[in-house]
Amino acid sequence: MLRKKCSRIRKYDKSIYQLIEDLIETMDAYGGIGLAAPQIGRPLKVLVVRVNDVLMTLVNAEIVHENGSEIDEEGCLSLPLYYGKVERASRVTVKSMAENGKMVKHKAEGILARALQHEIDHTNGVLFTDRLVEGSDLRYVGTDDVEYERSV
Ligand code: ZN
Repeated sequence: MLRKKCSRIRKYDKSIYQLIEDLIETMDAYGGIGLAAPQIGRPLKVLVVRVNDVLMTLVNAEIVHENGSEIDEEGCLSLPLYYGKVERASRVTVKSMAENGKMVKHKAEGILARALQHEIDHTNGVLFTDRLVEGSDLRYVGTDDVEYERSV
């Protein structure tokens, strides 16, 4: 499932709202800062992120512009307890479909930009382990030292 390229959504309907609710509930249950539909078994281009108490739900999200780059450690709720260094764009502009069907753009930087890039990767079947900085390994934190707050 995590390797599937997800389908685009044609329009918001009941099932999409339900899926968004399920994603938020699961993300919060594990204390993550983002979650994409394939992570709960649905190969659809739907994702949620919550950074600094701001919740974003994005449908058909794609990156249309990016600049800068930074390396930081990140984790994934689908690969619990593993962390690794990943290079991401510092700032991104993401396009997604609003409830009225129109395309809207969002600008993000810092941890929000990182979370969005991680989740959009999920909707394209890409995992953060595919993007580890050369020469860096996954770090296993052990079950006594859970650090889900950086997981997406
Ligand atoms: Zn993930």
